[in-house]
Amino acid sequence: MDKYRVKPDEKINLSKFDTKDTSLWDKSKEKAKSEVIKLNEELEKLQELLYAERKHKILIVLQAMDTGGKDGVIRSVFEGVNPAGVRVASFKVPSPIEMDHDYLWRIHQQTPSKGELVIFNRSHYEDVLVVRVHNLVPKNIWSSRYEHINAFEKMLTDEGTTILKFFLHISKDVQKERLQERIDMPEKRWKFSSGDLKERLLWEDYQKAYEDMLQKTSTENAPWYIIPADRNWYRNYLISSIIIKELKKLDMKYPQPEEGIENLKVE
Ligand code: AMP
Ligand code: MG
Repeated sequence: MDKYRVKPDEKINLSKFDTKDTSLWDKSKEKAKSEVIKLNEELEKLQELLYAERKHKILIVLQAMDTGGKDGVIRSVFEGVNPAGVRVASFKVPSPIEMDHDYLWRIHQQTPSKGELVIFNRSHYEDVLVVRVHNLVPKNIWSSRYEHINAFEKMLTDEGTTILKFFLHISKDVQKERLQERIDMPEKRWKFSSGDLKERLLWEDYQKAYEDMLQKTSTENAPWYIIPADRNWYRNYLISSIIIKELKKLDMKYPQPEEGIENLKVE
């Protein structure tokens, strides 16, 4: 899995990363799907432990171009987890109140508490992506943000949060197919916004913004993973595997039960 992890300050050229890569899986797509179901059960158990122990905080950040598969990951990878301990925070265009604060204000409010796993569907990284591409603030403002973000995430990890960041990397061709599908399939139309077509025209600018983001904000404590995401099953398989591997490292334990209850009989 480490091959997908971005090393601190590693220069990234996204066009060199194969969005169709499936190299860590040598069996069929169907077998991968059943493997994800197995991993899912493992994740459920680990999340139960996380919730019971109430010690660690887990933050998962999902970033991607439109149609990159953020919603699909949330549906498939986290299927069956206990909603009492898992939350999705989606970040849209900031509200007027959010705009009146610094860009990390709304983010900090949504970070996980002890025992909680929070998935960010978009994140503070929009403030060096869409904000940069559309010149919503001048360059000297957005370019200072990498440093703020690293410091912010360092504070969170020092205080007991595990941060995993996934960039779902799709090709421009696959985005075309997926956008067309959103237009052609009535049950998918609700997801389509004509703004998506305007953003698509800025594909290259976004890739450049993503490359800088990956290079400047992948740290030892809060790494980025570049996930080949043209194939949903491989994307889900990788993300499930990485999350499970990291949760296992925490060596979580159920809290000590009350003493002497082993032989109690309930009348
Ligand atoms: P969606 O995720 O499809 O619901 O779209 C949410 C939209 O909100 C995307 O177009 C994002 O680029 C936009 N967005 C999220 N965060 C920000 C931000 N900080 N500034 C401007 N736009 C944002
Ligand atoms: Mg959208």
